Amino acid sequence: MAQRQEQEPARTEVTEVAPNVLRMQLPIRMPGLGHVNMYALLDDQGAAVIDPGLPGPWTWQAIQDRLRQADLKPRDVHTVLVTHSHPDHFGGAARFVREHGARVVAHRSFRFGLAKSILENQPEISVDDLTAQQGDESEEVSADATADSHHHHGHGHGARNDVGLWWGGVSPWGGHEPRPPLRRRLVHAAMRLVGGGLKVPKVTHPVEQGDVITLAGREMFVLHTPGHTPDHFCLHDPEAGVFIAGDHVLPSITPHISGISTSADPLLSFFYSLDRVAELPGISQVLPAHGHPFSDLKGRAGAIKAHHHERLERIREISRDFGRPASVAEFSRQLFRPRSWGSMAESETYAHLEHLRHAGQAESHRDRHGLLLYLTG
Ligand SMILES: [Zn+2]
Ligand SMILES: [Zn+2]
Repeated sequence: MAQRQEQEPARTEVTEVAPNVLRMQLPIRMPGLGHVNMYALLDDQGAAVIDPGLPGPWTWQAIQDRLRQADLKPRDVHTVLVTHSHPDHFGGAARFVREHGARVVAHRSFRFGLAKSILENQPEISVDDLTAQQGDESEEVSADATADSHHHHGHGHGARNDVGLWWGGVSPWGGHEPRPPLRRRLVHAAMRLVGGGLKVPKVTHPVEQGDVITLAGREMFVLHTPGHTPDHFCLHDPEAGVFIAGDHVLPSITPHISGISTSADPLLSFFYSLDRVAELPGISQVLPAHGHPFSDLKGRAGAIKAHHHERLERIREISRDFGRPASVAEFSRQLFRPRSWGSMAESETYAHLEHLRHAGQAESHRDRHGLLLYLTG
């Protein structure tokens, strides 16, 4: 499978993608992703930036370089907007606050507080896309310490895409996860230490659905778009026909929808959020957090929704084939190939099964070991 655009390494050049809006690609190393787009929105006071990459000096160097190309310094950045609580989106925020007391805008439900899990195990893209990208066995998808499963899961040694969402505990659907290899545990312990010392900024300007912010000299509207995370928001710029999408709608991959969520039915939240943005009139430029700008917001939102509906249909087929209540792990092993088996695949499967249950299309009960079993209608 050819490399997806979201996987391309960060390019250094800065491009104007809408009036007073610059695309600046920052390097990240996460499974299936090669860069994150930081957008700089220029105005009389300097600039606001959206999604300033992962924490750390590597990112900060890239940020300084990209800003310099636009004749900006970090202290010119008066506002940092963070579309959602994933580390590749808020990483540089603390440094901007330190440099010049930048204000920090995020949805009011934003969860900076996840100190322990902030740097680890935050899946960004769906298991399907991860598997597709690894289909050619290219080892260019070099995992770093934030998701270091590559180094430890050789072929035939369990799930390569398993990012270990609840090690040592019990998942919401009753499954246990085996202890990860020692080296992986040590890396993550080290990451937690680093994470503990992270200067995490406070959200100074919490926003919610319908709020209006002036950016790039224009009024932009906040859309709360839960699904990929419960705190995700997008921006609509009606004057220029621009939609700033974060991870809500990506050009060629499907964002990961986790079953482990504060929402009872995260997939339904995601569907609502996709419908909401598909209705926006006059969009000519969609600016995603990963991959290149594109124009057909409605078409892409519809395609992502269709992918999930196919998945739901497939789950009903699998349940009919089982002909008995089956566990989340059993479903996920029918849905995914062996190298994708594990917590991430189960979490996505759980999100879909819970969606069916909330829609009255599946029933569930716990067996005597506490394992959730599902039967679809
Ligand atoms: Zn994300
Ligand atoms: Zn992302």
